[in-house]
Amino acid sequence: MNGHLKIDDSRCIRCFSCVDSCEGALKIENLHEPPIWNEEECIFCFRCIDVCQNEAISFDN
Ligand code: SF4
Ligand code: SF4
Repeated sequence: MNGHLKIDDSRCIRCFSCVDSCEGALKIENLHEPPIWNEEECIFCFRCIDVCQNEAISFDN
């Protein structure tokens, strides 16, 4: 169990760097909303956290 990804809407600037860094677990559904996370595709590499310049991404348990 590696937790659930959360994106803080108020911190997310919709740059989508996290989507580019991800192997397929983050998808853009609406350009005006934060990306959507698919737990089943997530390999918990945490690259998305590293690339997010606004510290909008966290994992909770
Ligand atoms: S990298 Fe961070 S700021 Fe950019 S879309 Fe992803 S969560 Fe939002
Ligand atoms: S932890 Fe890795 S696989 Fe999971 S959403 Fe972030 S970049 Fe994608």
